[in-house]
Amino acid sequence: MDSRFCRKCLMRDMAENDYFVNLRDYIDAVDRELKTEADEYERRLGICRECDSLISGMCIKCGCYVELRAVMKKGYCPDADRKW
Ligand code: SF4
Repeated sequence: MDSRFCRKCLMRDMAENDYFVNLRDYIDAVDRELKTEADEYERRLGICRECDSLISGMCIKCGCYVELRAVMKKGYCPDADRKW
């Protein structure tokens, strides 16, 4: 898989390197009180995977890595239709 441009991929799907490992560590370390429940997190990411705005793990609507945005309980999809 070409890790430079991965349409419909999440960060977790891309090549292992320090940058992505650090982001995963960050996600793991989010305070439980602030963190989205696991089922809801996967639901959100499933929607992102089907969305044309997901490019290389990033949402082109907001410039965020969706796994970082979705992990926060108060996070929401920035699309006008707000998909999650
Ligand atoms: S617009 Fe919403 S559903 Fe689509 S990639 Fe961005 S956050 Fe995910």
